[in-house]
Amino acid sequence: MPEVHNWQLGRKMAYRFPERHPRRQFAAVFNINRCIGCQTCTMACKSTWTFSRGQEYMWWNNVETKPYGGYPQFWDVKALELLERADPDGQTWNTRQRDDRAAPYGLYQGKTLFEAAPKEAEALGYLPADEEWRAPNIYEDTPTAYPVAPGTYHPTGESLPEHRTWFFHLQRLCNHCSYPACLAACPRNAIYKRPEDGIVLIDQKRCRGYKKCVEACPYKKPMFNAYSRVSEKCIGCYPRVEGKEPLFPGTAVEPRCMAACVGKIRLHGLVGVNPDGSWAEDRQHPLYYLVRVAKVALPLYPQFGTQPNIYYIPPRWVPRPYLRQMFGPGVDQAVETYLAPPRELLAVLQLFRAAQRIIFSYRIEEGGKIFETTIKGKKWEMFNDTVIGLDRAGKEIVRVSVQEPIYTRPAQHLNSI
Ligand code: SF4
Ligand code: SF4
Repeated sequence: MPEVHNWQLGRKMAYRFPERHPRRQFAAVFNINRCIGCQTCTMACKSTWTFSRGQEYMWWNNVETKPYGGYPQFWDVKALELLERADPDGQTWNTRQRDDRAAPYGLYQGKTLFEAAPKEAEALGYLPADEEWRAPNIYEDTPTAYPVAPGTYHPTGESLPEHRTWFFHLQRLCNHCSYPACLAACPRNAIYKRPEDGIVLIDQKRCRGYKKCVEACPYKKPMFNAYSRVSEKCIGCYPRVEGKEPLFPGTAVEPRCMAACVGKIRLHGLVGVNPDGSWAEDRQHPLYYLVRVAKVALPLYPQFGTQPNIYYIPPRWVPRPYLRQMFGPGVDQAVETYLAPPRELLAVLQLFRAAQRIIFSYRIEEGGKIFETTIKGKKWEMFNDTVIGLDRAGKEIVRVSVQEPIYTRPAQHLNSI
């Protein structure tokens, strides 16, 4: 089997096909800390792409409540259990072998889902039962807790650094992975990755509905259409990315789930890619800055080995062991950085959902100091900087300041009924 470079694991790994990467890659950062679980993203996707016959139970974008929720139910627990059974105690990282460029999270020492697969399969996986797909939001807002004596409250209550009773919303869609398990598993070669933007698509004419992609994808994002008898998945809203959105003709626009986000937790973009699949250095690209410079956003279950392209700013109140299993060993640094964001990070965070058009770079105009406090014994200052988002040609799309301006409406509007 060919070997490919997986920068998220800090090493090479086995994959069905040799290295071949797109010029740019569809990617996004989701700030879990800000999600309000409103499901506007879910409905924006549903009403755009999956409202037809055979798609009734299909949710290409979903938001689930962790730790209990999942769509399909227990998808991640099941994938982790499979990996654990095939490679007992293997999911460990050597963080001493961390290298800023080649291995930013350290060296993953266990097997990936490709390496742990039995001979007859390309990736270790399972096919969810029909009933596991029936509830897209089961256990909505159901927390878990450390046990305390019956009838008592924990003396420390809920305070940072970790809440003892907790849940969080996990926003999910296809990761348009650099090494897609769905693509590797397809016996018809019906799945392909577009060279211009890395969006992973299923050719509906070639697909024969064998469901190998559903079985192999650890994130369970390809779905079987029982009416058309073929598999379907998130298409990354590629007509919008291509500039075919009627509102902004000729301009690359964010997918529907990103553009509709009420909590302003999503920032989407297209990042440059090196021949080995790592991100090309692009210091002023907001996603490059968040993932590779500030290291505040992390991949979901990097140990699966697909090199997913949706990154998450981990929720700061959740017990760290849970987060480390989910996002890898970069969690502690990411949470610490987010808790006391450097000046540049605070400015870049303002770009989330500030524009529908895709931002390719940013610059910052410095403003005056507006606030000062102490965080963990260290002085922390806030500046009213303005961040400017630019399009592919370097033209300004949006400008946002750290301090939100306040507008007072004239009194004649107060009694407008
Ligand atoms: S998340 Fe799943 S469906 Fe999407 S590209 Fe990765 S392996 Fe394929
Ligand atoms: S629209 Fe945004 S805030 Fe609402 S559930 Fe989706 S990701 Fe969360």
